[in-house]
Amino acid sequence: MNIEEIFEKIKNKELTICETCDNIFPYVPQKKFCDECGIARKRKSYEENREKINARQRKYYKKNTERYKAYQRKYREENREKRLAYDRKYLAKNREKINARRLARYHAKKKQEEE
Ligand SMILES: [Zn+2]
Repeated sequence: MNIEEIFEKIKNKELTICETCDNIFPYVPQKKFCDECGIARKRKSYEENREKINARQRKYYKKNTERYKAYQRKYREENREKRLAYDRKYLAKNREKINARRLARYHAKKKQEEE
């Protein structure tokens, strides 16, 4: 594709140029950034607003605790087998990692208690 073709396609809303890195990607309404930049921006915005986001989530959770718990309960019941299978698989696959983490936590706690 030459540059005229690209601009033509951009005009026709077939393509978009990323506002950050000039990558060209298929047109999606409201989408101004390529996937990579979109993820990076989301991450950055989360980092910058972490406290605000956490506070909002806490507030939301507080307000909707019962609903949230009911939903979790329902989800757990509905997916019990799936979850157990997943847990088993995860545990088998990551046993060493989990044990190491557990041990590290144990030592950290012990150290804290000693101080
Ligand atoms: Zn980009």
